[in-house]
This record gives sequence, structure tokens and C-alpha cells, in this order.
Amino acid sequence: MLVVMKAQATEEQISAVCQKIEELGYRAHSMPGAQRTAIGITGNRGEVEPGTLDEMPGVQELIRVSKPYKLVSRDVKQENTVITFAGTDATFGGPGLAVIAGPCAIENREQTMAVAEQVFRAGAQFFRGGAYKPRTSPYSFQGLGEQGLQIMAEVRDKFGMKIVTEAIDNESMDLVEKYADVIQIGARNMQNFSLLKRAGRARKPVLLKRGMSATLEEFLMAAEYVMSEGNYKVILCERGVRTFADHTRNTLDLSIVPAVQRLSHLPIVVDPSHGTGKRNKVTPLSRAAIAVGADGLIVEVHHEPDRAMSDGIQSLYPEQFVELMKQVRQIAPVVGRMVPAIGNYPRSSDAMPAHSDVRSAVSPLA
Ligand code: PEP
Ligand code: MN
Repeated sequence: MLVVMKAQATEEQISAVCQKIEELGYRAHSMPGAQRTAIGITGNRGEVEPGTLDEMPGVQELIRVSKPYKLVSRDVKQENTVITFAGTDATFGGPGLAVIAGPCAIENREQTMAVAEQVFRAGAQFFRGGAYKPRTSPYSFQGLGEQGLQIMAEVRDKFGMKIVTEAIDNESMDLVEKYADVIQIGARNMQNFSLLKRAGRARKPVLLKRGMSATLEEFLMAAEYVMSEGNYKVILCERGVRTFADHTRNTLDLSIVPAVQRLSHLPIVVDPSHGTGKRNKVTPLSRAAIAVGADGLIVEVHHEPDRAMSDGIQSLYPEQFVELMKQVRQIAPVVGRMVPAIGNYPRSSDAMPAHSDVRSAVSPLA
């Protein structure tokens, strides 16, 4: 059930309705929009008895939401959700594309700083890297844990890039929430419902990767889990699905981008690295992702991919990432988007620049 408030409804009227919903034993999710505020009701097993709410001041109408997902849907919020970050102009879902780049795993400080500097110079506003790695084999490198998170925090301090890193379980979530700017939930955990609920109680945006065999509805329902706990800052990520194809690691399903955008107000980014598993396919699929309307990219880059401890074959060399950004910069304006300007570090050899100085503005095609 959805309570649509009148365009001129006051803050007091909106909170009175939310309070009433909570008194009735449900959960109220107030979603302000450009035209009006809608209040989603969750926690109800059956139909909500409309009587009491219908008559309240400021209420325009009550709508039954027939889709299984409610808070992710455009019924609740027509305008695109735009996720912003204090102190930067990086956004997900705004006119500027979000570019996330970095190694698959944080291996050590030297590797991390080497990759970070290169991706920052190329224009990435977000730095990715796993401190907790969900590996197919228990004998593979599992990540540096908190030490990896500390190294990522150094990257944020030095370059001003925001940090995107994965939580693989409820234990790692506590630390990831403390260090990260965006909490990644990996494909293997897309239906780990207790982890999704925990992410829903976190105070950081969540980048939710599509499960490797998830339908569109399952993907949106996973996002609904996060939102149902009160965290409305969810970024969806297409990272390829399992098919019969053997020329790629996964089949990147770019058609899900417009499919999501039709049903949901949430931003969606594309991961062409896991989506193809092959370095030579990452740039062409990045071009396609931007052309299809994705809100950004998450790309694996390594300064020495041959020596990478995970996903070296799909990791770009830094100069290939520079070229990718160049190509994406040419495509973005065609679909009405902008790309971050080239990061400028260091600006002078004498002083460490402040974040506001090193942060590159989102600018139109340079
Ligand atoms: C990753 O981003 O390194 C990762 C493990 O991705 P996915 O969950 O999509 O496999
Ligand atoms: Mn990886």
C-alpha cells in the first residue's frame, strides 16, 4: 500500500501519517519526490485497512501496489534516485557518470597506491578493491581484512576518491561500514537475506551486484530487502550472468539497464570486468554500457595484472583504463551524460592538496 500525499501537504501532515502507520503496527517509508511525497507501507501481511489513513489531512489517495517490490519501484518514487557524497560532486544517478576503478583485491600498500594514483589521474571518483574476497576456492587469497580497509582509507585521504568495498558476511559488515563510503554486496550474496537486512540498517550507500542467475524480479527484490530496513541508498550493478557462452566468463546483460530504469528509480551501474572476464572486452562493453544508459561503471585495473592475486586476466593495464575513459568521454554526451574531468595529482610538489583541490569536477566532455 502506498499513501500519496497532496502536493501541498505539510511536513506535519506527512509525519502524522507516518506516525499513524507505525501505530497500526506497520513501517512507514517516506519518499519525497519533486511533485509530492509518497509514503510506502511495509510489514503488512495482507491488505492495509485504508479507512483511518484515507481521511487524514494532506492525504490525496491510497494506492495498492500490486508488484512484489514496492520501495524500489517507480510507483513509490517517480524521479530517479540520486546518491550524493558530501565534499565531492560524485553522484550515482545524476547527470554525471560514476566511475569506480581499482584492483579486484587489496594486496598490499604499494600495489594499492600504484593503482589508485593511476585511476585517479584518469578520472575515477571512486576507488574499488576487496579487503574480504569471496573466492571459489578456500585456498585462494581471501583478502587482507581490516588491514586492507585501512589501506583503502589512506587512498581516500590521499586522493579524495570515495571507497567502494565488499562485505561478505555480517562480521565483515561492521568493519566495512566503518571504513567504506559505499558497501558492496557481491553477486554470490545477492540473496543472502540476513546480510541484505544488515546492509539495510547500515548508514552507507549499498552497491548491490546482480546474482549470477538472478532474474530482474529477484534482483529488485534483493534491493527491496535493503530498502525495507530503511536504507534507501541502493545502487544496482549488472555484472553478467551465467549462460552457455564460453567466449566470456559471464554474459553481460546490458538489456537489464533499460529494464531496471523502466521499473525502478534506483541508479544502475555496469561491471564489464566480471561481466566479460576478458581484458580485451572490457573497453568495448564499457562503451556499450554508457550508450545503453547506465549510470556508471565499475572496472578492475591493476598495475601488474600478470601478478595480480585475483582476476588478473580481466584487469586493465592503467593505460588501457586511460583509453577507456577517453572513449567513454566521447560517448557520454551523446546520451546526455557527463564524465569526470581528469584527476590532477599532485598539483604541486610542495604540499599535499586538500580534498577539494584534488577532487576533479564533473564536467562535460573535455
Ligand atoms: C568483485 O567485484 O571483485 C566481485 C567479487 O564481484 P562479483 O560479486 O560480481 O563476482
Ligand atoms: Mn574481481
